[in-house]
Amino acid sequence: MDNHGQNIQQHSKRCRLVLFPLPFQGHINPMIQLANILHHKGFDITIILVKYNCPNLSQYPHFTIRIIPDGLTESEVSTIEVALIPKLNARCVGPFHDSLAQLLSDDPIACIITDAIWYFTQEVADNLKIPRIVLRTSSVSSFLAYAALPLLQDKGYLSMKDSEMDEPVVEFPPLKVKDIPRFGTDDPEAAHQFLAEVVEGTKKASGLIFNTFKELEEPELAKLGEQFLKPTFAIGPFHKYFSASSSSLWTQDRTSISWLDKQAPKSVIYVSFGSIAEMDEEKLNEVAWGLTNSQQPFLWVFRSGLVQGSKCLEILPKEFWEATSKRGYIVKWAPQQDVLSHPAIGGFLTHSGWNSTLESICEGVPMICSYFFGDQMVNSRYVNDIWRVGIKLEKGLERFDIEIAVRKLMIGKEGENIRRNILSLKEKLNLSLKPDGSSYQSLDNLVDFISSFGPPV
Ligand code: UDP
Repeated sequence: MDNHGQNIQQHSKRCRLVLFPLPFQGHINPMIQLANILHHKGFDITIILVKYNCPNLSQYPHFTIRIIPDGLTESEVSTIEVALIPKLNARCVGPFHDSLAQLLSDDPIACIITDAIWYFTQEVADNLKIPRIVLRTSSVSSFLAYAALPLLQDKGYLSMKDSEMDEPVVEFPPLKVKDIPRFGTDDPEAAHQFLAEVVEGTKKASGLIFNTFKELEEPELAKLGEQFLKPTFAIGPFHKYFSASSSSLWTQDRTSISWLDKQAPKSVIYVSFGSIAEMDEEKLNEVAWGLTNSQQPFLWVFRSGLVQGSKCLEILPKEFWEATSKRGYIVKWAPQQDVLSHPAIGGFLTHSGWNSTLESICEGVPMICSYFFGDQMVNSRYVNDIWRVGIKLEKGLERFDIEIAVRKLMIGKEGENIRRNILSLKEKLNLSLKPDGSSYQSLDNLVDFISSFGPPV
């Protein structure tokens, strides 16, 4: 799928914008998509990238690219991503400041657009007197949950016992205690500290962009407006304008599509846990046996690094291969958007990353939601309880629950209802991108907002 901005009406302004993506797949994709959208709207785009996880630059002849050092050591890049965030924020201050100052001395810059997680950039923007707009690459609901963490901590929710995990969070429906974002680190305090910085940095920004659409998160957008008092632009889903393929950090294995071509319509469950999630061997076995026992065909993305300390598929037991060789297909990385739009796909067992969730809604593919950390915990609750477009695995990745959920989704009555809901949401999403639609109009408003920062160069 690559419709190259066919819905975008061009403007003739030539303001220069500088964009700064966070170097993780789920953040690079939407920022590059936004860069393409704004370029199509007539803006000149410069992208500052760090060396870590740098995408293939040959894809961007239409952008000016600057690469700055990130200061990470080799041993640090192999640690988990959440732990890298404060380090990246501390070490990129100087290089980012210098690069931006240099760009500014060459040409005027209307504004910078940085990932919300790059919280240090607000101070740099203030120093150089450039407006900063924040792109938050996840849902509004999960961002509000991050902003509510200090309150939830004060109320004692973060220290509740294991037996209380299914209790409701009365201040934040529909969350249950177990859905309050956690980060799988040994140092939750550090994670809370950086999130507080992210929220503070966002409050000081000139405006906020979200990869969502009004009809999906209307009450949450209203709440965000009350809390942050900033112009907010819900202009998603970005990938309907430009595919994520150009910024893929891994080669997308297209044999997955030829394999899907041979499968019956709506028969295959697509399984992917995104670019960061890690599981241990025990969980892997639960997934493998859940899929096997469901008897349903599956396409599984088995990314290098998915299982801690292991790189190869041989880690899966011999019995699994024997039982599934005729109806399972495994790849290291897939062209996910093309997979989800394939007629053979009937469901998506996902880690509930925001891009995956939006991509699934766009294609009307109902989900079975697991989660690993952070926003995924909130996204999966909304998919299950609010939008009713999927089934959340309430006890995590357990073989019996996976088997039952796959059956319910693919062949049961409950699955039919969920499919109806997601098709209706897909319809709303498509309308939001049409002229007069909410995302379309919000994008026009964003263009006007950015243009107000400076005259055309
Ligand atoms: N993706 C992909 N191929 C795969 C798995 C994922 O291209 O095999 C893309 C997917 O389309 C999405 C991104 O990687 O755009 C993952 O982002 P998400 O927010 O879902 O999860 P994260 O990787 O940030 O946990």
